[in-house]
Amino acid sequence: MKFHIITLFPEAFDSYLTESIIGRAIKEKRIQVTFTNPRMFVSGKYKKVWPDGNVSRVVDDKPYGGGPGMIIRAEPVLKAVESVTKKIAKRKNAKIKIVNFSPSGEKFTTAYAKTSAKKYTDIIMLCGRYEGIDARVAKILKAQDVSIGDYVLTGGELPAMVLIDSISRQIPGVLGKFESLEEERISSSEFYTRPEVLEYKNKKHRVPKVLLSGDPKKIDEWKNRAKKE
Ligand code: SAM
Repeated sequence: MKFHIITLFPEAFDSYLTESIIGRAIKEKRIQVTFTNPRMFVSGKYKKVWPDGNVSRVVDDKPYGGGPGMIIRAEPVLKAVESVTKKIAKRKNAKIKIVNFSPSGEKFTTAYAKTSAKKYTDIIMLCGRYEGIDARVAKILKAQDVSIGDYVLTGGELPAMVLIDSISRQIPGVLGKFESLEEERISSSEFYTRPEVLEYKNKKHRVPKVLLSGDPKKIDEWKNRAKKE
């Protein structure tokens, strides 16, 4: 699976993608993550070369109809996506999905992650910033609006990391043997480890007795209950 991130802030991904399961998946080439910055595709009056050689590239502009925030212009985003799709097109049988992050999009779920891992070879993700990306981009690219929850974030970079993480877990070989089992077996949202009796501020906190019983059936029943509660 190849994830192609269209973002103004590629550095925001650095530490997360080098750690733990995802870092290992990238090293082992089970997944690949590429970054394309729309700023590199700014041209015309939005690009200025200063006498000292510095170049400023402006990706945003004021919203039509008024409003406080700035909008990322369509042109640099479309050109950035085009540069990615051109490379993908060199591979035969590539199946591309384009996701546009939006707080009001379709809610991202594990079921969505599972389907995406099976159906696509390449997922292009458009990370908005400011008020978002000019709405014509999603329409032209037939991108699907996707939300990771009912709250507003500053940008699409965290949602992109959420999708990379969750979809990667569904790709064969990404999870090690132990973590795979973890996905399959009954797992509750309540966990305990040593010590059996935890003393904290003069109070004793015990591990539920059933977990010490050694009876797998009873333990599974308890875990199922703990999951529902
Ligand atoms: N008023 C804008 C809207 O309703 O779309 C909010 C823009 S938000 C400040 C900037 C960008 O962050 C969005 O364009 C989107 O890419 C991303 N974003 C924010 N919250 C999100 C969420 N819950 N799920 C997915 N993307 C989100």
